[in-house]
Amino acid sequence: MSRNYYDVLGVAKNASQEEIKKAYRKQALKYHPDKNQGDQKAADTFKQVSEAYEVLSDENKRKLYDQYGEEGVKAGGAHAGGAGFSSMEEALRTFMGAFGGGSSMFDNFFGGEGPGAHYAQQGANKKIQVTISFEEAAKGVQKEAVITNNVTCSDCNGSGAATPNDIKHCNTCKGSGQLHQTRGFFSMTTTCPHCHGSGTVITKACTGCHGAGKLKKKQTIKIQIPPGIDSGMRLKMNGYGDSGENGGPAGDLYVYITVTPHEFFKRDGDDLLIELPISFTEASLGAKKEIPTLEASSYKLTIPEGSQTGKILRVRSLGFPNVHGNAKGDFLIHLRVETPVNLSADQKRILKEFQETEKPQNSPQAKSFIDKLKSFF
Ligand SMILES: [Zn+2]
Ligand SMILES: [Zn+2]
Repeated sequence: MSRNYYDVLGVAKNASQEEIKKAYRKQALKYHPDKNQGDQKAADTFKQVSEAYEVLSDENKRKLYDQYGEEGVKAGGAHAGGAGFSSMEEALRTFMGAFGGGSSMFDNFFGGEGPGAHYAQQGANKKIQVTISFEEAAKGVQKEAVITNNVTCSDCNGSGAATPNDIKHCNTCKGSGQLHQTRGFFSMTTTCPHCHGSGTVITKACTGCHGAGKLKKKQTIKIQIPPGIDSGMRLKMNGYGDSGENGGPAGDLYVYITVTPHEFFKRDGDDLLIELPISFTEASLGAKKEIPTLEASSYKLTIPEGSQTGKILRVRSLGFPNVHGNAKGDFLIHLRVETPVNLSADQKRILKEFQETEKPQNSPQAKSFIDKLKSFF
């Protein structure tokens, strides 16, 4: 159960205070709870290294520890009453103490700039707009697009230096990336303006990227668009964004889809809609009609006798594929009865003959409307 504080920090038994501090900072930043949210193991390690540092950074406690082990330190009052790990509160206090407690450390820590700035960070996400046809949305399609990303320069591995020997310690801040100023009681920590907090300067820039460590790279990519996609949906392509920083993963590419409207078809979710004009004789007598579909073949639609304008005929599973692979939508046919125009004299005569035979039950809607009107007055 006895954890050796030197092993915990990974330093030798005769390590200098500078070495102990350096080792602790490295470990504490790695296991800090803000960087490892919900990770209990990291939290325990963070508490452990903080406890080890608390003892070894104090020469008196360290002597007691060297002579008597952990019990010696506890008897000495460092952790009165507490066995095992220090509390997280104590650990965070130790952490603040070891970093001078200035807020600039946190800016640097979380902003990714500063002496400890070499944290892995995900690259930026990108987005593009892709327009496809109605049919392509129904069948799925592969599209090509040209994207330009910031990628890590392969000549210098992102360092920006011609060779590793061209990276030197910054003289202004002695490699710490920070400047400490003391004014009376107050001490201030600022980011070194010479190296912008990196602690290093480049004496000879990489010719590939001119020292930026990054390059703009144009590439043609293939985008697989699944059947059933609709306007306003977006696809996520993992790793197609900018390269990450310090070994972090690349960002993602978001593909925003626009589907151009179709001349005849409309869409409501996964249902396919069409408005079908029919003649009044087809509506009256019933008919069979070939209508186009999104499939290769057309569909033979049966229009029942006595169909009215506004009637919707539903054909199951002849609509859009579902983009998530669920059941297909339906095909909904909206009927619209067209009143005949441009009648010949002959046609008019036939219609007049028909009119003489008309009975109220031939037009139930008109009949019921007239009946209602009568009772109203
Ligand atoms: Zn500097
Ligand atoms: Zn380069």
